[in-house]
Amino acid sequence: MLADEETWARRALPRASRAWWTASLSGRRVDYQRMEAADRAVNRHYSRPTVLRRLERLLQASDLDGLTRRRLERLCLAYRAKQAPIDILDRITSAEADIQETYSTFRATFDGHAASDNELEDVLRISTDSARVEAAWLARKQIGSVVSDDLRQLAHLRNEAARAIGFKDYWHAQLQLDELDPAALIETLDAVERATQKPFKAMKADLDRQLARRFKVAQRDLRPWHYADPFFQETPEVFAPPADPLYADRDVVELAADSYRQLGFRNIDAILARSDLYPRKGKNQHAYAVDIDREGDVRTFLNVERNARWMNTLLHELGHTIYQDGIDRTELPYDLRDDPQGFLNEGFAMFCEQPTANPAWLREMLGRPREQADALGPQLAAQDAASLLAFVRWCLTIVHFERHFYADPDRDLNQLWWDLEERYQLVPRPEGRNEPDWAAKVHVATAPVYYQKYLLGQLFAKQLSQRLDAEFGGWWPGRARAGAFIKNELFLPGARYPWSVLVERVTGQPLGVDALARAVAWPRPASSAPR
Ligand SMILES: [Zn+2]
Repeated sequence: MLADEETWARRALPRASRAWWTASLSGRRVDYQRMEAADRAVNRHYSRPTVLRRLERLLQASDLDGLTRRRLERLCLAYRAKQAPIDILDRITSAEADIQETYSTFRATFDGHAASDNELEDVLRISTDSARVEAAWLARKQIGSVVSDDLRQLAHLRNEAARAIGFKDYWHAQLQLDELDPAALIETLDAVERATQKPFKAMKADLDRQLARRFKVAQRDLRPWHYADPFFQETPEVFAPPADPLYADRDVVELAADSYRQLGFRNIDAILARSDLYPRKGKNQHAYAVDIDREGDVRTFLNVERNARWMNTLLHELGHTIYQDGIDRTELPYDLRDDPQGFLNEGFAMFCEQPTANPAWLREMLGRPREQADALGPQLAAQDAASLLAFVRWCLTIVHFERHFYADPDRDLNQLWWDLEERYQLVPRPEGRNEPDWAAKVHVATAPVYYQKYLLGQLFAKQLSQRLDAEFGGWWPGRARAGAFIKNELFLPGARYPWSVLVERVTGQPLGVDALARAVAWPRPASSAPR
């Protein structure tokens, strides 16, 4: 039984990964069709109810060894997820494809022309004219009313599929199929809210003072469009000088590669050689990392430019690749050569972005003079902490929104969205606005019930930093001992243990909010500045 599953997975999963890779490179319709066909084959495989029943019987045996139990548990979840009637699943797939296409082809009307998201977001980031950022923000939200009715219907369909396999609604199904307990998640959200309340308020007050100056308005006249990001997902650069010029004439790929070499990850050059790093015609604009075959073919897909955002994205995506590359391939059965839960992989990748605020990194990798690096490092670290605070509070908005959205897709969602933004992000709603601004966020449509992974990932990342600081004096400057610890304790076990066990083994404590609370203290304690 398990041997059959393994034989199938070795053939079908690499085929689906390769089809994805090819389609995102070429952008050709025929390649996207091949990708969908490969995905459908995977879905059909897991939709067989008789196999699920046999797996569930096997799982009831009392004499299972740990590895076999984990394999059966994970397989049962994979099968359970695909048990809804096939016609509902097909309707969901085609509704998702339509909405995805609407998001990727929609162009807002702005300044009398059709504008891309990138153009609107550049205006939001750069302009200091209130009327102009307001116009860009409103344009950025136009997509909301185009897709909101379809999204509501899609939520009903997703709920129908979830209820058909015994879950309360789609939100609960997604979490439980992913081995997350909804009640425990809500408790974690509440704990994060409490732990970040004071520092977020303090940081936001500092930010508002700067923004009021920048836009020459009174603080009470600040509106959502003044926060640079259309959803205030991060904090505008006010606590440090702009970081882009640091990388304008740098080979950011080599900087990232060298960082990982110094940490002891020798395979980084082979990974980069298999990867596709630079923009070109037809190529998808996103960034991702993929483990093609669980036999060592790990790659990343990027569109690198010489700026701070791509420096961080490189460190992030390469973090995913060294994780996947480091999973044991000699003893672990094929189906456990994976992370135990996506948020550990996501959290590790976010953890990997930290060196760029480290004075030693600025000195040794970018060649900045010591005095400059020592002054700039703490500023960049303060900016990072401010951005993390904004991000965590934004996560609260979107995770709570999705919870209420699937509980009742027909409620007044426009009102709900601004209630949440005001409560968690302290961003006042525009007077008299009653528009589906929730539908302007692409994740709500195409990566549903995913955002909790970023939040849990940040909790994990901060616990990991705390452990490495205590035991190895940190991750950077390139401490090969910290690298070896991560390899042995986090990567090698793959999905051998449930996620809660692995978090405790690696960080020395259960997943909680204390490390995050310390990392986002505001005002910044003097001693926490350089890492
Ligand atoms: Zn990631």
